[in-house]
Amino acid sequence: MRGARVEVMSVLIKNGRIITADADYNADIFIEGERIHTIGKNISHKADTVIDASNKLIFPGGIDPHVHLDMPFMGTFSSDNYETGTRAALFGGTTTVIDFILQKQGHSLQEALAEWSGRASGNAIGDYSFHMAVTDFNQNTKKEIINMVEKEGITSFKTFMAYKGALMIDDRQMIGLMEEVKQHGGMVTVHATNGDMIDYLIAKHRDERKLSPLYHYLSQPEVTEAEASERFVDMANYTGCPAYIVHLTCEGALNAVRNATKRNQNVFVETCIQYLLLDASLYEHNFDSAKWVMSPPLRQKKDQETLWAGINQGIVNIVATDHCPFMWEQKKMGKKDFSKIPNGHPAIENRMELLYSEGVNTGRISVNKYVEVSCTNPAKIFGMFPRKGTIAIGSDADIVIFDPTEKHELSATTHHMNVDYSGYEGWEVTGKVKTVLLRGQLAIDRNECLINKGYGQFIKRKKVLGRI
Ligand SMILES: [Zn+2]
Repeated sequence: MRGARVEVMSVLIKNGRIITADADYNADIFIEGERIHTIGKNISHKADTVIDASNKLIFPGGIDPHVHLDMPFMGTFSSDNYETGTRAALFGGTTTVIDFILQKQGHSLQEALAEWSGRASGNAIGDYSFHMAVTDFNQNTKKEIINMVEKEGITSFKTFMAYKGALMIDDRQMIGLMEEVKQHGGMVTVHATNGDMIDYLIAKHRDERKLSPLYHYLSQPEVTEAEASERFVDMANYTGCPAYIVHLTCEGALNAVRNATKRNQNVFVETCIQYLLLDASLYEHNFDSAKWVMSPPLRQKKDQETLWAGINQGIVNIVATDHCPFMWEQKKMGKKDFSKIPNGHPAIENRMELLYSEGVNTGRISVNKYVEVSCTNPAKIFGMFPRKGTIAIGSDADIVIFDPTEKHELSATTHHMNVDYSGYEGWEVTGKVKTVLLRGQLAIDRNECLINKGYGQFIKRKKVLGRI
């Protein structure tokens, strides 16, 4: 494994235990170029690099379908760019991310795509794709949908039911977008929340001089998310458009989805690692709580139980991060007013290890479910399967070699994300990503990143038909 900085033509991984969403077995993997060539017992092919994976687990590369790198927001940018963000992702076993392009109201989707591609292309180390956030659905935007799906390989369209005047679309636009997207084989995704109600509560708290981070939480009660989730799934049911709810956090919202399943509607649900592990008791008057100022906010313990159960019930399909880091200096923009704290929290590097440690090790989910929600379902739901999201002959050789017994501590002093605090400072996790391959290249090994910026490719995605 020495001298791995040069082009690797073939790799043989020996003696590992391969885990996919539906299998668990011991075999060798032979990789030629970017793809998996052979899987079998005692493979004797000659390879340029041989890796002994005895006592290790072998997972498909993780896919995080909800990240915000180098994102312009509240007059600043999220602090991880495509280079630092995808590098940190690789260190944590995530080989592909899907970021969000934000259309500017009054401007075209194509302009937004050019702007985002300009920041990502040539900088990403890991593979990436984009969702298109439609913030202004009008006659011109409508004409651009087909081109995004057919030519650009961008098949999912994000909507915001909050942030009026910047990102929010109204229900009339939502219905129009759903009809158009359905027609072209795409999917509409949503930040489901009642934006008007939140705006009212924020204004009320500010008027009452209630300005600490606690009021960020109190301005977004569970009902705001539950009501909007129900409205969104109703509109998706009416139009027949494939639908996906991003960062679902609570029992009320998940019950709206359950009701949809009762009428045989299929809705995909994503939650994020923080909503499974952290809760609202972290919000206080102390400004330190700004670390967890994100939208939706952290919820109650009962909601965590709902989400873990939802994963096992198959109603929560994906665990992502909504990675959107800001330096502490940036967070301090809201020192005197919670509504000015940039929303977001860093997790791109921690997701896979936290979910293994807190999910598999504690017995909450099986190791196959772990792969399903963090690798396979993101690939299937977003049109990258079987190229990504599994370990199979012909798939991209995106592979994580994982030591399930190694204990280590999460900390801002050792993480690779470009942010000066950790939401999980001092957490001890069991299980560590040791080696990562991305399209056949040794990407992470011995705590070092061995590939450079520009290696990451834009992944064009297939049509999303609302089935997995
Ligand atoms: Zn987000």
